[in-house]
Amino acid sequence: MAFLEVNNLNKYYPITDSERFHALKDVQLSFEKGELVSIIGESGSGKSTLMNLLGGLDSQFDGEILVDGENIGQFKEKEMVAFHKEKIGFIFQSFNLVPHLSILDNVTLAMTLSNIDSKTRKARAKEVLEQLGLKDHYQKKPNQLSGGQKQRVAIARALAMDPVAMLFDEPTSALDPEMIQEVLDVMVGLANEGMTMMCV
Ligand code: ADP
Ligand code: MG
Repeated sequence: MAFLEVNNLNKYYPITDSERFHALKDVQLSFEKGELVSIIGESGSGKSTLMNLLGGLDSQFDGEILVDGENIGQFKEKEMVAFHKEKIGFIFQSFNLVPHLSILDNVTLAMTLSNIDSKTRKARAKEVLEQLGLKDHYQKKPNQLSGGQKQRVAIARALAMDPVAMLFDEPTSALDPEMIQEVLDVMVGLANEGMTMMCV
């Protein structure tokens, strides 16, 4: 069975009481575990809309989204929280790091949602940060890092939760050209290890 299956997905954004914008029209797609899928489309074509739906960040849609056999449209709040914790890592263009926290705390904070004790969280955070080449920066704040490093922290934060799949929404578009490659290298490394990934 496909890891992800989308059937007749439609997304409408309400504009006024009587008007709505049809952002996604009858989207069909499916892919398997371990695949690296790219989504390409012009600005405004609905890429972020699709990613937000697949990641469960937006649950207003018509149609069917099956992830690992589960219909996420039918999730209750508790199931959606578990889905976010256990299944999907999300990486955004704008990093979304907490500015006043060290990068180590940014990664451990994400894990406080899970039931892992604080010592294990810290050890796990250090492990993934080291894996992504950030060993020398644990105590820095996000604004003391380059764009490429910030995005690697965001990837570490997602990875620390051991997600089944990772969604990237234009992960390199806010980066200076010379930093794009370091983020792409990390992504290729993850893909080679068999991580299921979808990237706008
Ligand atoms: P992309 O990521 O491909 O650039 P988006 O998914 O962000 O595109 O947006 C798709 C379309 O939906 C755009 O035309 C955008 O204006 C519209 N849209 C996005 N968010 C909203 C919203 N909250 N309300 C109304 N329209 C929206
Ligand atoms: Mg977008």
